[in-house]
Amino acid sequence: MRYTLINPATEEPMETIEHHTVESTDAAIAKAKVAQAKWAALAPADRAKALRDFAAAVDADIENLAKLEVRNSGHPISQARWEATHVRNVLEYYSAAPERLFGKQIPVPGGIDMTFNEPLGVVGVITPWNYPMTIASWGFAPALAAGNAVVLKPAEWTPLTSIRLGELALQSGLPEGLLQVLPGRGSVVGDRLITNPDVRKVVFTGSTAVGKQIMRGAADQIKRVTLELGGKSANVIFADADVAKAAATAPYSVFENAGQDCCARSRLLVQRSVFDEFMEHFEKAVKGVKVGDPTLEETEVGPLVHKVHHDNVSSFLDGANVLFRGSAPEGKGYWFAPTVVQASGLDDRCFTEEIFGPVVTVHAFDDEAEAVQIVNSSEYGLSGSIWTRDIGRGIRVARAVESGNLSVNSHSSVRYWTPFGGFKQSGLGRELGPDAPLHFTEEKNVFIPAD
Ligand code: NDP
Repeated sequence: MRYTLINPATEEPMETIEHHTVESTDAAIAKAKVAQAKWAALAPADRAKALRDFAAAVDADIENLAKLEVRNSGHPISQARWEATHVRNVLEYYSAAPERLFGKQIPVPGGIDMTFNEPLGVVGVITPWNYPMTIASWGFAPALAAGNAVVLKPAEWTPLTSIRLGELALQSGLPEGLLQVLPGRGSVVGDRLITNPDVRKVVFTGSTAVGKQIMRGAADQIKRVTLELGGKSANVIFADADVAKAAATAPYSVFENAGQDCCARSRLLVQRSVFDEFMEHFEKAVKGVKVGDPTLEETEVGPLVHKVHHDNVSSFLDGANVLFRGSAPEGKGYWFAPTVVQASGLDDRCFTEEIFGPVVTVHAFDDEAEAVQIVNSSEYGLSGSIWTRDIGRGIRVARAVESGNLSVNSHSSVRYWTPFGGFKQSGLGRELGPDAPLHFTEEKNVFIPAD
């Protein structure tokens, strides 16, 4: 089956991609199994060097990768460059891991006891369309570093940068079969990564609905999973915050990547005593967001990824109390102006469901306890921000919020040095940070008697 990609900024057809079948997925997994055995047998220093060479190949291709993402996903060029650079950084960071996969020596009576972190074998990585190359790298870099092979299935709408990363891996000297990119349908290639017993772990990033299916499917073989799922994160502004600064940055905490961001702070909670002051600054900031041609350096937000997604995001505005909107181009392209909605109540669909577009829903609260209670009323728990000048409150609220990634007076979510992942229905397991390669190993315990 062949699939024609559409440029979301122009609606013009682009490359036609050959989709993999169940049979070709099985063949790729078999090839990965052979490559993995050889890769795991290499000296750790040689695996480290191979990953550094892969990082260097990505570094030399940053501009090309960025331009591919602009065409395929509509990401603004400056953002896409950051994404390609992030992939290089992630590879460089995990290239240190092969030589630092330390086991333990445990005191036991009658002998010695040692642990070894053994690679799992073949790992399947299934990625969504919102940040195709960065999310792929969070899976493949630590998995390869720990001695595994990877079969990567990119999202149907946005496979181009993943395909290019596969080519760069080969060109840089990674063994053939070690990192394979298989464009195809979730229900075909993605599903086969779950059902083929030679795949020992699946790293899935995507919707909570599909994540649940993956978890059920993985149960049949007790297959390891990491699930990075949806979010409905909150940006909480207390009255003692720098209100002007919080309002100036709030658009970028939710509208970046056109709101197609699992960490988007799409619930905006403002303490009632500063609500009007905040909204006055916020309106100016929202209207200042530069939405437009993603090829231009000054563009901050591009189009939505696909017509189907545009229709879905638009449906949330039916009956919604829209307070104000920013601007977006008219004509061809899946444009959507940044939109601010007043929640009709805590059960308002715009306040509870992940819209995954540039729509933020605002709500006022009276005190700290109410703010925490509202934030935690969501079934999701991925990220969030707290704005306050009281550092004690910042820490207290951050500890009380049931989310995996919080920031105080900032909307930073993802740093490859620190663990990333969700509470509740936002996921299972952690990616990134120094321990990520360990999540692609099994800990083996070996006892040797002294006599
Ligand atoms: P989907 O869940 O629809 O798809 C994600 C990936 O899974 C795609 O590659 C898809 O393939 C594949 N897939 C679909 N069905 C199956 C199946 N039955 N078996 C195996 N694979 C399958 O998510 P979206 O692509 O729409 O991405 C948006 C979602 O991702 C949002 O909910 C967002 O919050 C979440 N996300 C979470 C992140 C996190 O780190 N927590 C980060 C980024 C996004 P195909 O393309 O063919 O449908």
